[in-house]
Amino acid sequence: MKIVFDKEGCIGCGSCAATCPEHWEMAEDGKADLKGSVEEDGKMVKEIEEEGCNRQAENICPVNVIKIIDN
Ligand code: SF4
Repeated sequence: MKIVFDKEGCIGCGSCAATCPEHWEMAEDGKADLKGSVEEDGKMVKEIEEEGCNRQAENICPVNVIKIIDN
């Protein structure tokens, strides 16, 4: 599975980084960063083996820019 993060829509609330710091942190531009991700078609993407706390991050994000996708 993979995480797809539409960074452009991030409003910088910090909830993902607070909920799932293993995978998420806040960047100097005020938006979140998905640690270890690569850019694909304007979105940040990272392959993961288990969803772990990313599911909580997906659920808590107020603007729904975090998606976990089953390959
Ligand atoms: S929870 Fe969503 S809006 Fe808030 S910082 Fe993370 S990605 Fe951005």
